[in-house]
Amino acid sequence: MLPLKGFLHCTQCNRILCGSASKGRNNYYYYYHCSSACGYRKKAEEVNKAFVDELKMYVLNEDSKDVFKIAIMDAYIDATKGETQNKTNYIVEITELSNRITKARELLLTGDLDGSDYKTIKTESEHRIAVLEAKLAEAPVTAVSLVEVERLLDKAITKLTQIDVIYSNFDTYVQREVIGSMYPEKFTFENLQHRTAKVDFLFQLIYQINSSLREKKRRASDRKTCLPILAPEAGLEPATL
Ligand SMILES: [Zn+2]
Repeated sequence: MLPLKGFLHCTQCNRILCGSASKGRNNYYYYYHCSSACGYRKKAEEVNKAFVDELKMYVLNEDSKDVFKIAIMDAYIDATKGETQNKTNYIVEITELSNRITKARELLLTGDLDGSDYKTIKTESEHRIAVLEAKLAEAPVTAVSLVEVERLLDKAITKLTQIDVIYSNFDTYVQREVIGSMYPEKFTFENLQHRTAKVDFLFQLIYQINSSLREKKRRASDRKTCLPILAPEAGLEPATL
């Protein structure tokens, strides 16, 4: 009844809204309300409905699935490409610095480098090596293969295409998981009404893809109404390719 409890803040005084029920003649009535003297209070039914309306805008359309998948896979490949390149650069530099120390030691032994210069080169190189080794240790391990990423992504896409159904059919615990994954920050009822609540990057992406495909479809259907209708050649319908 009060899935949004803890996610909403008060429009008037910015406090986190509480939720409670009051008993009517035949039923309980649920409210989200402010605990301060500001007196802000909204019927839970109204707020919950605004959320469900908002949620519908972030359901991944069947048509948008492929574009969404390509966008995420590309972003993953790009991000990990940088990681691999960084690691290679660190290793190359560490090897060069070690060679530099070895070379300096040889020059010291042949008398071509004096002791204090050798010491400076050695200390500087060792310091830099320590920094690079620390960076190498901190660099994330790309242990997840692309096949595994794709498998996880397909699973997520299945959920994202029916997130509104999941939300409506499950209990408050699941509903709160959905809300928490969508909104990185608290929001107000008015944010929901005017779609001004900040949503997570993935949901922003879904919204953009859905909107742009919808727009493309609309333009295509506008064009169709202006053109004579041509039957596609047999075997060339996109569905059969
Ligand atoms: Zn308040």
